[in-house]
Amino acid sequence: MDFTHAFRLIDKNNKAVFEAQAKHVTRRDEALLLAGADAMTRVLALVYEAEDGVGTIAAMNKKTPIACSPGCHFCCFLMVAVSELEAQGIAQYIFQTMGLGGAMLLLAATQARAAMVKDCPRDGEAYLEQELPCLLLREGQCSVYPVRPMACVGYHSLSRADCEAGHHKAVDSIPYIGEYVVYPTTLITRVTAARAAPGRPKAGEMNAFLAEALRDQIALALAQEPLHSIDQPATQTREEA
Ligand code: SF4
Repeated sequence: MDFTHAFRLIDKNNKAVFEAQAKHVTRRDEALLLAGADAMTRVLALVYEAEDGVGTIAAMNKKTPIACSPGCHFCCFLMVAVSELEAQGIAQYIFQTMGLGGAMLLLAATQARAAMVKDCPRDGEAYLEQELPCLLLREGQCSVYPVRPMACVGYHSLSRADCEAGHHKAVDSIPYIGEYVVYPTTLITRVTAARAAPGRPKAGEMNAFLAEALRDQIALALAQEPLHSIDQPATQTREEA
């Protein structure tokens, strides 16, 4: 991935930078990603590499001060949408960092949460009123930070005060910019669409998709390994949200 073209535009304005990223998503990228034996792992690695690239752009662009800071998690009470591909990546990460036991606990929790919120309208207000912290939030930090959904990655708030106000009541006025993730989000959407089984939804409310992905991961692990040989969870490291 070459961000040279984007860096050249950095002194102009954000919009130009991120529109340039979107144009950079090519059919060739998609073909390369889909050709691999483990396309999902590959695409996720590339997606987060891309995110690092745009994060650098954001840090360099002093014209847009971002209000987000470690430990601030008002946005982790919002309804989050994910693609099937992202949910699979998160499920893999959960399995690797929390082990079979952690994955099974989260499977039960996400199934229950998905059932609880399945009728919430997409505007998210009814969801917010229930004051439900994301099930992946641990002590104020995201437990799947390296593979968190692009919806979370891209939610760059410009006002902590507005986020706090919006935490108590859904408001339309929280200023944020999501353009930093135009490239990876576009790539995820395209690859998800190409990989999705016919007739299955490709994206939706996170808990429902994550429950399904966890169920698949657990079934695969149990089919491949005798129970006693499945690794215990690795020591979990958390990066600051
Ligand atoms: S996935 Fe992580 S960043 Fe996103 S809402 Fe949940 S805890 Fe917050």
